[in-house]
Amino acid sequence: MQRLEHKAPGRVQKINPRHTSQTCNACKHVAGKSRESQALFLCVACGHRDNADVNAAKNMRDTAAGHAVTARGGLPSGGPVNREPQPDLPSAA
Ligand SMILES: [Zn+2]
Repeated sequence: MQRLEHKAPGRVQKINPRHTSQTCNACKHVAGKSRESQALFLCVACGHRDNADVNAAKNMRDTAAGHAVTARGGLPSGGPVNREPQPDLPSAA
């Protein structure tokens, strides 16, 4: 009996958990050495210190949010939004 995992294309986010665990959430510096221990993250670049799991979770959140913004082609926030002029909908005429 085969138990193959069916991967749904397009639904899997390409986020490497190891990568996020080695990325500083403060300065985005990636270094395996920043992973002080299983529980502690200490950035070798800026000295940012955080719970390793919390730091990784923040990176995953930021990455997911960044992808969503990039996919829409918009700015993260506060940027000018070019709205196409909406033609008047035919109301009760
Ligand atoms: Zn850092």
